[in-house]
Amino acid sequence: MSKVTQNSPVPPFVRRLRCLRCGTEYTPSAIEYVCSCRPNSGSDLGTLDVQYDYAALSSSLSAMRFDTSGPVNSTQGIARYAPLLPIADPQTLAPVAVGGTPLIAAPRLAQELSIKRLLIKDDGRNPSGSLKDRASAIAVSRARSGGFPIVATASTGNAAAALASQCAASGQTNVIFVPHSAPPAKIAQLLAYGSHVIAIDGSYDQAFDLCIQACQSFGWYNRNTGYNPYMTEGKKTVSYEIAEQLAAHTGRDATAEQPPFVAPDALFVSVGDGCIIGGVHKGFKDLLALGWIEKMPRIYGVQSEQSDAIYQAWRKDWEIPRPVVASTRADSISVNAPRDPVKALNAVRESQGAVLTVPDSAILNAILPLAQLGGIFAEPAGATALAGLAVAVAEKLVRPDETIVMINTGSGLKDVAAVMEVTGGVAAIPPTLDAVFAATKEL
Ligand SMILES: *Cc1c(COP(=O)(O)O)cnc(C)c1O
Ligand SMILES: [Zn+2]
Repeated sequence: MSKVTQNSPVPPFVRRLRCLRCGTEYTPSAIEYVCSCRPNSGSDLGTLDVQYDYAALSSSLSAMRFDTSGPVNSTQGIARYAPLLPIADPQTLAPVAVGGTPLIAAPRLAQELSIKRLLIKDDGRNPSGSLKDRASAIAVSRARSGGFPIVATASTGNAAAALASQCAASGQTNVIFVPHSAPPAKIAQLLAYGSHVIAIDGSYDQAFDLCIQACQSFGWYNRNTGYNPYMTEGKKTVSYEIAEQLAAHTGRDATAEQPPFVAPDALFVSVGDGCIIGGVHKGFKDLLALGWIEKMPRIYGVQSEQSDAIYQAWRKDWEIPRPVVASTRADSISVNAPRDPVKALNAVRESQGAVLTVPDSAILNAILPLAQLGGIFAEPAGATALAGLAVAVAEKLVRPDETIVMINTGSGLKDVAAVMEVTGGVAAIPPTLDAVFAATKEL
């Protein structure tokens, strides 16, 4: 068994990595994944936080800020924020840019919820159809900078599709561990992108552990969520974009004596492992540290009642969640032992948000108003954020006059079976005008 000693080169503004469990600090060249204070399994990983030199960043960026010469867009993607990313060289990013997704005003949905202002960050419009592209872009960049021949990940489906897409564009060989039960559309993506697919006759949690063993044994670069600390750094770019786009929506004058970007009052996002919500938090924390937003948003995580490990930990004030037996229909957030719980719980606790749970029926039903009132087609895990927002409105956790952002984390095309289930599908009619008349007479 050959041990990996190689790490990816150190990017300019990353100063150290700090273990969120024991506080040990490492120089970036000394470590790539988790602190050795914890065993490599379950929720209790020695997860590392990537720490930047904000003072150095501030002084070198004050003149140019980010390269925000044009609006947030999908051609440039997250490369716009290169100085705040753990990449040694933007040239190592795949030619298929990720991020730069739209922040869309949803007045009809806001009215339905009796709130004044709701905007939807539609990350289903990433190249592979989910927010995971933001993290996989970083993984591929780091693997290429470090000269790794193979990148691997375990995934409920979307992280895999994201890695497969970025690898394909870069010509990077990759091995993907997925549960065999992942929705067919997600497995189809992997096969289309030409990944080496290992479909495990078991759970995501088993795929996760097996992937770690394989990477350690064979010297592959490991993209696993929660295990690879840099995935948070990719996902945080969603917050940079939201704050930048909200400033544009708000008509803020960039030359005035106020921070250039704007944070919403409250933000809603679904939670499985907890990496996305941790990334969302990190993005706003970066912006606050740089003085580019005035205040943090309250961050609300939403889980299914049938996969609620983070919720239980939050409610009972545990440091680390206890595993649950997850069975939610929202496969992207179906997790027994969350792999990034510390960052997730910190996000909610430090921002004065909350973790909410909703039944699977509410998740599936939320797909429809999101599509019919917002014009956005989400997979179940994406619609989960809207189901949670509805609960928050009912429980008066948000005020009607607040600016609220929800993130759609994945495209509805990822899981069309869920929609056929919730709508009941459509019956065939004979190809005659009479039949069309009969079918439309109620319009
Ligand atoms: C992965 C994923 C989530 C949950 O993200 P975590 O980091 O696991 O909490 C939510 N929605 C979609 C579509 C996803 O792919
Ligand atoms: Zn530690």
